[in-house]
Amino acid sequence: MLGGVDEGRLLEVARIIGGQEGVEIIKALREREDLTVEEISERTGIQINTVRRLLYKFYNHRIVASKRFRDPDTGWFIFQWRLQPDLIDAFIQGMKKKILKKLRERLEYEERHDFYHCGGENCPRLTFEEAVEAVFRCPRCGEPLRPFDNTPHKEFLRRKIRELEEELG
Ligand SMILES: [Zn+2]
Repeated sequence: MLGGVDEGRLLEVARIIGGQEGVEIIKALREREDLTVEEISERTGIQINTVRRLLYKFYNHRIVASKRFRDPDTGWFIFQWRLQPDLIDAFIQGMKKKILKKLRERLEYEERHDFYHCGGENCPRLTFEEAVEAVFRCPRCGEPLRPFDNTPHKEFLRRKIRELEEELG
């Protein structure tokens, strides 16, 4: 656990945003706070430019924060990076909301249309309008189109929507 966020979730989000290299960067920052880009690069073996690019990506999602101070010797600004794990949950909530929206749109589409299908495994499912257009012949194999029961689809979508709604409270 880290600031109330479990590690699995943290790394899952790191992977979604930054792939395997993103995971390595987040792991490095979990081991030690306040690392510079160069230090992260050294610890992970990932090129500096890639580290910088991914840090900005994480920063845009508010998963890492930076602080800067002036190097007393050179007078240049030094940036150090650290995790901001409290905001991981916000990120996950946001993702779930997007998925929920897509599922609801999908369900609406399934509810609004009647579907037709030839029964062929690799053939497309057509809406009534498309089936009329195709004169009730499968555009792929030429077999006659028959009404297609999408009740299992709708049931599946409704179940997923309910699950997400519960998770989101
Ligand atoms: Zn067909």
